[in-house]
Amino acid sequence: MAFLRCRRDPCGFICLILTYFSVFYADYVVIQYVLIPAYSGSVWCTLHGSVFNLILLLLLACHSKAVFSDPGMVPLPETAIDFSDLRSQNSHMNERGCEGWTVCSRCETYRPPRAHHCRVCQRCIRRMDHHCPWINNCVGELNQKYFIQFLFYTGMASLYSMALVVSAWVWRIRSERDGEGEKEGEESPSKHLIVAHYIILLVESVLFGVFVMVIFYDQLVSIITDETPIEHLRNRLMKDRTSITSSTSEPPTHIPHTRKPKLALLREVFGRGSVFCWLFPLHSSPPTVGGISYSAVPDYDV
Ligand SMILES: [Zn+2]
Ligand SMILES: [Zn+2]
Repeated sequence: MAFLRCRRDPCGFICLILTYFSVFYADYVVIQYVLIPAYSGSVWCTLHGSVFNLILLLLLACHSKAVFSDPGMVPLPETAIDFSDLRSQNSHMNERGCEGWTVCSRCETYRPPRAHHCRVCQRCIRRMDHHCPWINNCVGELNQKYFIQFLFYTGMASLYSMALVVSAWVWRIRSERDGEGEKEGEESPSKHLIVAHYIILLVESVLFGVFVMVIFYDQLVSIITDETPIEHLRNRLMKDRTSITSSTSEPPTHIPHTRKPKLALLREVFGRGSVFCWLFPLHSSPPTVGGISYSAVPDYDV
């Protein structure tokens, strides 16, 4: 249901097609114009081809998991909840209820701490990081791991294809200089085509590589600081508001961060398995215990 709802976003749909097209194009250029001409008959052709395709396979597997997984949607109530009691109370109680639970007026349900409403998914998402059009889904508590793995393998594939293209280009220039290239007349048009493919793949790799590395870094910072971008923005606004009203006697409204060890925070996202397992899109038991309940209990078990 969640997936079908997200799929209606045209921007997300275009980004998905662009992602798949870029991956298959990179694979085509690397095999057809880099490995076969430059490494044909050598063990390096098989080796580079296998490793590059393995990275792409893992990239697509992580991407699929990020796209199709539930990001941590807060379940909707089976029957309508009467919020008239809450509405009759003061606005502070409405915004911040007991133990951080809040009420979403759009979903008309209670939501656990750190859950936020996504306008694209039209649902509340637990520990929502952001809505990502590249996976046509929200990045939340349950699929953040797959999203980060997708970024990691995209970065690796970008670096790898850049290195392969540059080395093949150098090889081509050297072999032409040594007179080992094909005959001028026959080769001229395809040479331009090859160079065009090299340039397109280099540009694609640099753009995607830099883009995913920046997001990858932001994701890691958000995990080890235990603060999503939404919470960061909200806390900054609260801090600003507090500093403006500091002359008055109003109590500070800034929400302090939890101080868990960094490894414990990483384990909450990547699972309790060995660090080696963090590289694979394997299912790890979510930190949530059944249905609507939420893991507010601090977990220092490292
Ligand atoms: Zn909501
Ligand atoms: Zn969303």
